[in-house]
Amino acid sequence: MTAEFVRPHVAQIGYRSGELFIEQVPVRTIAEKFGTPFYAYSASAVCQRIEMLRDALHPAEVQICYAMKANNNLSLLRILSGLGCGMDIVSGGELERTLAAGVPAQKIVFSGVGKSEQEIKAAVAAGVGQLNVESTEELELIAKVARNVGRKVPVVLRVNPDVDAATHPKITTGTRHNKFGIPYEAALTVYARASTLPGIDCLGLAVHIGSQITDILPFRKTFERVAELVGRIRAQGNTITRLDLGGGLGVSYDGRSGIDIVTYGAILRETLADCGCELTIEPGRFVVAEAGILVSEVLYNKVQGSEKFTIVDAGMNDLMRPALYDARHPIWPIAEPAAETLAEPCHIVGPVCESSDTFGKYEALPPLVSGDLLALGVAGAYCAVMSSSYNARPLVQEILVEGNRYCLARHRQTVAAMLKLEQAGEWIAA
Ligand SMILES: *Cc1c(COP(=O)(O)O)cnc(C)c1O
Repeated sequence: MTAEFVRPHVAQIGYRSGELFIEQVPVRTIAEKFGTPFYAYSASAVCQRIEMLRDALHPAEVQICYAMKANNNLSLLRILSGLGCGMDIVSGGELERTLAAGVPAQKIVFSGVGKSEQEIKAAVAAGVGQLNVESTEELELIAKVARNVGRKVPVVLRVNPDVDAATHPKITTGTRHNKFGIPYEAALTVYARASTLPGIDCLGLAVHIGSQITDILPFRKTFERVAELVGRIRAQGNTITRLDLGGGLGVSYDGRSGIDIVTYGAILRETLADCGCELTIEPGRFVVAEAGILVSEVLYNKVQGSEKFTIVDAGMNDLMRPALYDARHPIWPIAEPAAETLAEPCHIVGPVCESSDTFGKYEALPPLVSGDLLALGVAGAYCAVMSSSYNARPLVQEILVEGNRYCLARHRQTVAAMLKLEQAGEWIAA
């Protein structure tokens, strides 16, 4: 629990003359035009993250394949594709979305531990640049699909390096206790098998050890293990030309500890730049998290026992990270709190009928009253994409801001559209 009001730490989101702005647009203006709740994204913040990454990796040539599961808004995908990014996808739905955004199939990497035959067929038909394989059964299925259509499919093997990323247990993926990847010890055998399979063009290895990693050491260990495997694969007489180093770069949720990407870049170059492979990374959260806010309006205040609750119009269905991973998003009132305001500890909670529908207890917020607007900060990644319509609450709208321009990038879902998907059996009385 923080004892101080956490002020916005993102360059594109901050107070000006007492009001919260996203780029050059007052957040209140957007709220008045479209109503709450809504997500708003700063396009410039996203572009800046890509530039920062490229600077940190320079002079190594590393392709950035944005992990679109972090935020798949079509406008954001178009912007990132325009910057030259490829896409890391994990489902057939993401394949359709990224193709709809105009991303060239060659620049798509298909990851994921459970691709269905239908999804594999769609990926092969589209001609995606790479399928990341996570098991021998999947490898055999891809080979079968490839032979049936007379193609050779570019494949890399995702290995599980058995490195603990020291992040939240629900977002750790790179230890032997997780479902992801081919076990490190089996990698050589599977690689040899993949290299002989007709229909498979076995190009390299992939790793991804988890998400929201702020410690640099797990990356170093992973990259060193990858470098070692490259040597052993070549010693075995097989070729390897591609390495996909995954994502996981952590961001700051409180203005303090994000990943040091300059050191990340240096470690990547030191361990892998000279290994004769094309390099790819797949950051998701790092690219979009800090660019987004969820804006909500205060509905009511109430006191229960000694605790104060402020009920807002956004809920766990709109932003489930606090309920799912005990995540904590900073809260930035739209009206800048005066310096001398006395903080009033309160629980900020949503309207959903679950006790886990809480954004947390905030120790240092100024008193908020009905009608006040607030932003949940650092809400660009794993927020809108995880939202649901629980309690028959429609998915909220998404606004994209760039400079002094903004647009409704995704409409609010309508209850009418949801009802249209349903029908009752004819024996059920109306
Ligand atoms: C989720 C995921 C990523 C992106 O992770 P971030 O923590 O958002 O950077 C990259 N690669 C794979 C395979 C993933 O599953």
